[in-house]
Amino acid sequence: MKILLIILDGLGDRPIKELGNKTPLEAARTPNFDFLARNGICGLITPCYQGAFPTSKDAHLSLFGYNLKKYGMGRGVFEVLGIGMKLKKEDIALRGNFATVDKNLKIIDRRAGRIQNTKPLIKSLQGMKIEGVRFLLGKGVSHRLGIIMRPSKEKSLSEKISDGDFHILKIKAPKIKPLEKKEEAIFTARVLNKFLEKSHQILDQHPLNKKRAKKGLLKANYILVREAGRLNHLPTFQKKWKMRSCCIAGGTLYKGIGKVLGMKLIKVKGATGKSDTNLRGKFQAALRALKKYDFCYLHIKATDNFGHDGDFEGKKKFIEKIDKNLSTLLKLKNALIIITGDHSTPCKVKEHTPDPLPVLLYGLGKDRVEKFSEKECKKGKLGKIKSVDFLKKVFKMKERLKKLN
Ligand code: ZN
Ligand code: ZN
Repeated sequence: MKILLIILDGLGDRPIKELGNKTPLEAARTPNFDFLARNGICGLITPCYQGAFPTSKDAHLSLFGYNLKKYGMGRGVFEVLGIGMKLKKEDIALRGNFATVDKNLKIIDRRAGRIQNTKPLIKSLQGMKIEGVRFLLGKGVSHRLGIIMRPSKEKSLSEKISDGDFHILKIKAPKIKPLEKKEEAIFTARVLNKFLEKSHQILDQHPLNKKRAKKGLLKANYILVREAGRLNHLPTFQKKWKMRSCCIAGGTLYKGIGKVLGMKLIKVKGATGKSDTNLRGKFQAALRALKKYDFCYLHIKATDNFGHDGDFEGKKKFIEKIDKNLSTLLKLKNALIIITGDHSTPCKVKEHTPDPLPVLLYGLGKDRVEKFSEKECKKGKLGKIKSVDFLKKVFKMKERLKKLN
C-alpha cells in the first residue's frame, strides 16, 4: 500500500469570533476533506515540542519520525539544499537576505524592497575567497539567497556563530560573533564579517544598484545572514522506513527537507509555495509519482502564510480551494492518504503554536468522525499522538490491516 502524506503548513487554528467561533478549517466548506474523514480514521497530533514555538523544519523532521535531539541541524542547510546547491560536510550553510543599509550601515529595509532580480548581484560576489574560505551563493525566492562557506583543506569552520539579522530595523547591521571560545568559531565569525563588509562595498557600487537608486528604488547593498548550519547526515527516509520516497513542494525549505531525507524532488510547474500555487498540478504529480514511489510527501505552504498575516478569511478560502482540487486524488486506489499540518498557526496569534493538529487517515478503515476539523478529530480512533511517534503507529496499523486481509 502506497502512502500520500499531505502537510498543510500551519493548518491548526483557534476559534475566531468573526467566523462564528469556528476555526478556519471548521468554517470552510470542505466536502472532500469531510468525505475522507467520514470514511477514514481521525485523531490529533501534538507537534514536536511543547511550550515553545515549533519551527516548520523541526515540526517536519519530527513528523517524519526523526528525534530532534539526535538530528538537530541549522536551517541554513535546508535552505541551501532547497535552492539546489550542493553541500559538503565541512561546509557551513547560511540563509541570507539582500537588504538595504544607509551610509552608517543602519538597516533601512530587511528585504531591499523585495528585489526580484538579484542574479547580477550574486554574480559579482560569487566565489569570493577570504583567508582560504570560498563563498558560494545561490539565488532564492526574490530577495533571499543561500550562502555556503567552504574552507580550504587546512582550515575548519564552525556553525556556532551568531546571526547577523535580529529582524529589527534602524539598528546597525549586527556583527557576527563566535558563540563559543573555540578557534574554529572565532575564525568563522571573523571571515564572515570580512565577507559581509567586502560584499557591502561591491554591492553599494554595483551598476544595478546605481540604476535602482536613480529610479528611487532601494539599493540591495547588504546581506543579512542567519541560521548557520552544517550537514549532519541522518538516515534517509528510505533507510529508516523502507519506502522509496518523493517530495512535492514549492517552498525552498520544504524541498530542502526532502533533499536531506534523500527523497526524490518532483518538479511541478506553477508550484510557488504561495496561495497562487498550482494545487491541481501538485495533486496530479502525486498521482503519477505514486506509480513509482511508495511514499509521497506533498507540502502546501499558504495556510501558514495566512495564519501569520492574521487573515482568517483568506485561510478559510484557501482551505476550500485545496478541498476543491482534492477531488483529483479520490481516484487513488490501494493507497493511504494522510492529511495533517506541521504545527498550528492561529490567525489571532500570527505565530506558530504547539496546539494539537487534526489528522485524517483514509485507507485504513473508519471511525465515527464525520468532519475534518480540530474539534471533531479529537473524537477519532487514533486518539492523541506525539508527532515523532505518528508514522511508526501508521506503519503498525498498515501491517495489521495487511494481516487481516
Ligand atoms: Zn510550518
Ligand atoms: Zn510559519
